[in-house]
This record gives sequence, structure tokens and C-alpha cells, in this order.
Amino acid sequence: MEKNFDSQDGYEQEQKEYSPPTTGGDRPLAVVAMGGHAFMQHGDSGTIEQHHHNAAEVSAVLMTLVERDYNLVITHGNGPQVGQLLLQNDLTHEQVPPMPLDVLVADTEGWLGYVLQQALLNQLRRRNIHRYVVSMITQVQVDKRDPAFSKPTKPVGRFLSQEEAEARRDELGWVIAEDAGRGWRRVVPSPRPFKIVQRKMIRDAALNGHIVIAGGGGGIPIVKNAHDDYEGVEAVIDKDLTSSTLGVNIGAELLVILTDVDQVFVDYKKPTQRALGAVTMEEAERLITEGHFPAGSMGPKVEAIYEFLRKGGKRGMITNAATLEAALEGRGGTHFVGRL
Ligand code: ADP
Ligand code: MG
Repeated sequence: MEKNFDSQDGYEQEQKEYSPPTTGGDRPLAVVAMGGHAFMQHGDSGTIEQHHHNAAEVSAVLMTLVERDYNLVITHGNGPQVGQLLLQNDLTHEQVPPMPLDVLVADTEGWLGYVLQQALLNQLRRRNIHRYVVSMITQVQVDKRDPAFSKPTKPVGRFLSQEEAEARRDELGWVIAEDAGRGWRRVVPSPRPFKIVQRKMIRDAALNGHIVIAGGGGGIPIVKNAHDDYEGVEAVIDKDLTSSTLGVNIGAELLVILTDVDQVFVDYKKPTQRALGAVTMEEAERLITEGHFPAGSMGPKVEAIYEFLRKGGKRGMITNAATLEAALEGRGGTHFVGRL
């Protein structure tokens, strides 16, 4: 391999001798999943400056895992960004051919990967830590027979009037639905992730100490077609469930889900609300059945961690960026373990 292409440390380092990557095979491997809010805060219009700013903040927080010597795979949401691309498609479709959802997910994996890897590299460089960062365009296989395909539920793109929505249904074959009295939206299937196509490369890179950004936006949904070829589909995959499958596929021991609450609650937003400190799998199962975690938000997170533990993961954690360090020291967040 060419010396210069191996180094992500920039032009000024090109003259230096190439040093092989730190082997990190003995470090614990963690998957960290971040919500779309990691790049776009409430009230942000979504400028590139806001994305760089938010990525820098979350990258500084992620250094607590690097400093604790974890091998790291980072996944992220893309809801707001895909929403904006769909809007662009909608506004310019007469001039520019619109792209299908699988391509839009790939698009966000690319540019959000760039923004995040640059922010992470800047943090590493400031600390003089010699670890590299790579973003992986990740395909995630889903099952054509998944019942989600006959019952699309995930709203994407902007709100439309009933008239606009019906016109698009007739012209473009969209499935449309009314969204909680707020207007009409396109809905797409949200099938379960079944296999991460790039899992071996993600694992190998991570075990070599490289920080890997993968499965962005839940990954690009693909199926095997009638010829046994891979083919993209118009669907979106839940990023928490993809992170769980990825964690299992690469043998991670820790799955951290960073969101905008510091802990998980029972009786959320009721007078009886109570924060959860540590939860066993049995308790998690009971709380899921009791309906404490709604489908569109906390549900997939708790389920993701439950499945991760059931299939071999050792520890799970749900918290926010501000609490991550305390949570790693056992002073915050919600922890999930096989048994106490
Ligand atoms: P992300 O973008 O990180 O995936 P989501 O909005 O999908 O974030 O999920 C996090 C949200 O889940 C929190 O902001 C909170 O309002 C909501 N939530 C629902 N039920 C609970 C619960 N039982 N405990 C904590 N938060 C909950
Ligand atoms: Mg979410």
C-alpha cells in the first residue's frame, strides 16, 4: 500500500515514517449509537456550520471512551437530514431526477460520515492520540417477506395537504397516511435488520484500533432479489435495531445508546415517573410488556439492548452525551446487564 494513503493525519505528516496502526485486539469493543440530534439540535435549520459544531461537541464526549481505551464503532441517525433531502427531491424533481430512499440513506452516510470523522480526527489530533477514523457505507440486508413491507408505518419527508398527498400517491405510488392530526405524510416500511453486509470489515478495522463510523441512518436497506443479487429497497431501518445487530455481528461487549434523556424512566411523564439505574434482562422484558417504552422513541432502544444482551453482548447503556462519562463510572445513565 502507498505510504501516503495510509495516513489520515494530513499533509504535514506525509514525510514521517509510516507507523503501523496500534493493535487494539485486547481492548473492549463498544458500539455507540447516536440520535439524529447529535448533528441537529432542536431549533437548528440544519446548516453545515451547525452540523460541524454539533459533531465537534459529541466527538469531544466520545473521547471519554477513547481515553478509556475502547475500540469503537459509531452509528448514527439521519432522520432530519433525509427529511431535507426528500424535500429537495420534491422541490427540484422537474430539473433533477429524484433519488430513491436507499440512495438518500447512502448520501447521508457519506456526508455525515465525513462531518463526524473530521470532528473525531480533530479531537484525536489535539490529544496526540494516534488512531484513525473511517466511515463505512453500510448495506443492511432485510427480509423481503418481512411483514413491514405490506404495512408501511414510518413517516418520512415533509407534511402535505391531503390533496398533495393523494396526488403523489397516484403519480409516484407512495403510501400515505395521516400523521396524528398534523397533516399527511409519506410512510415507508421499516423492516428489521437481518445482516450487516460489511460486518467483517467493520470488526477488523475496529479490532485494529481504528474508529469506525458505520450503519448511519440504520444502514442502506437491501434485499436479495429473484436472481439472488442484492438490490436496494425503498424503506428505512431503525438505527437502534441496526446498532444492536451490528454489535452482535462484530462481537461487541458494550452497546451505548446516546439520546436526549440521561436515563430511561418507568411511567415516563406521569406523576409516578421513576428513573431506572440498573435493569436486568428479566426486568427489561417485564417493563417492555407493561408498555413503558413507546414504539417511535424509547421502544426500539430498550429492545435493541435486550436483543444485544440475549445474543451475547455483556452490557448495555442508555444515556445522553452530557452524562456519558458519569455513566461509564457507574454514576448515571441506565445500565442493562444479563443479571445483577
Ligand atoms: P433518538 O433521536 O436518540 O433516537 P428518540 O426521540 O427516538 O431519540 O427517543 C428518545 C426520546 O424517547 C426521549 O427524548 C423521550 O422523550 C422519549 N421517551 C419515551 N419514553 C421514554 C421513557 N420511558 N424513558 C425515557 N424517555 C422516553
Ligand atoms: Mg429515534
